[in-house]
Amino acid sequence: MPYTVALTGGIGSGKTTVSTAFATLGVAVIDADVIAREVVQPGAPALEAIAHRYGADILDTQGALLRSRLREIIFADPAEKTWLNALLHPQIQARTQQLKQQAAGPYVLWVVPLLVENGLQTQADRVLVVDVDENMQLSRTQQRDGVTLEQAKSILAAQATRAQRLACADDVINNNGSSQEVLPQVRALHQQYLKLAAAKQD
Ligand code: ADP
Repeated sequence: MPYTVALTGGIGSGKTTVSTAFATLGVAVIDADVIAREVVQPGAPALEAIAHRYGADILDTQGALLRSRLREIIFADPAEKTWLNALLHPQIQARTQQLKQQAAGPYVLWVVPLLVENGLQTQADRVLVVDVDENMQLSRTQQRDGVTLEQAKSILAAQATRAQRLACADDVINNNGSSQEVLPQVRALHQQYLKLAAAKQD
C-alpha cells in the first residue's frame, strides 16, 4: 500500500484548491466523495440492493439514485442507516484500497471531507488539515454554493469543529490568504511527504 496522506477540512475550507495544487505536482489524488458516488452508480450491485429494499421509487427515470429520498429514509430510521452503512462501507473500502494500490507515484493524497467525523484517521499515514477562520469559511461557502449565511452556518454546525479537526492534524495548510499562498505551502509539504514515503519503503 502506498504512503497515504489524508487531506481534510470543513466545507469551503479549500480542499479542492489544495488537492488541485498537489495534482499539478504530479501527486495521485483519490477522492472519497467520488468513490462514495461511484459505488451507487446505475449498474453497481449496491444500487440494485438499495432499489430492492426501498422499491423503484428510490430511482429516477434514468435509473439513478434519488439521494434526497434515501437521505430522508435513513434520517427517519437509524436501523436503515445501519443497513445502508453495512452495505456501502465494505464496497467503499475495497474500491479505496484498489485505487490506492493502482496509484502511480511515491504517495497518494486521499481527500476525505468527513475524515474526522467518520474516524478514518487510522487509515492514513499522515493527516493534512486545510484550516481557515470560520468567517472566511462561511463567506467562501456562501459565494460558491449560493447559500444564505444561516444555511452555511447550519452545514458547519453538522461537521466536526475546527478544533476537533486540528487535534487530528499532523500538518496544517492555512488558507486564510490568497490562493497564490497555497502553492508554496503545498510545495514544502510535498518535499516532506516524498521523504516520509521513501522512509516508509526502507
Ligand atoms: P472545499 O473543497 O474544501 O469545499 P474549495 O477548494 O472548493 O473548498 O474552496 C471553496 C471556495 O473558496 C471555492 O469557490 C474556491 O474557489 C474559493 N477559495 C478557496 N481558496 C481560496 C483562497 N485562498 N482565496 C480565495 N478564494 C478561495
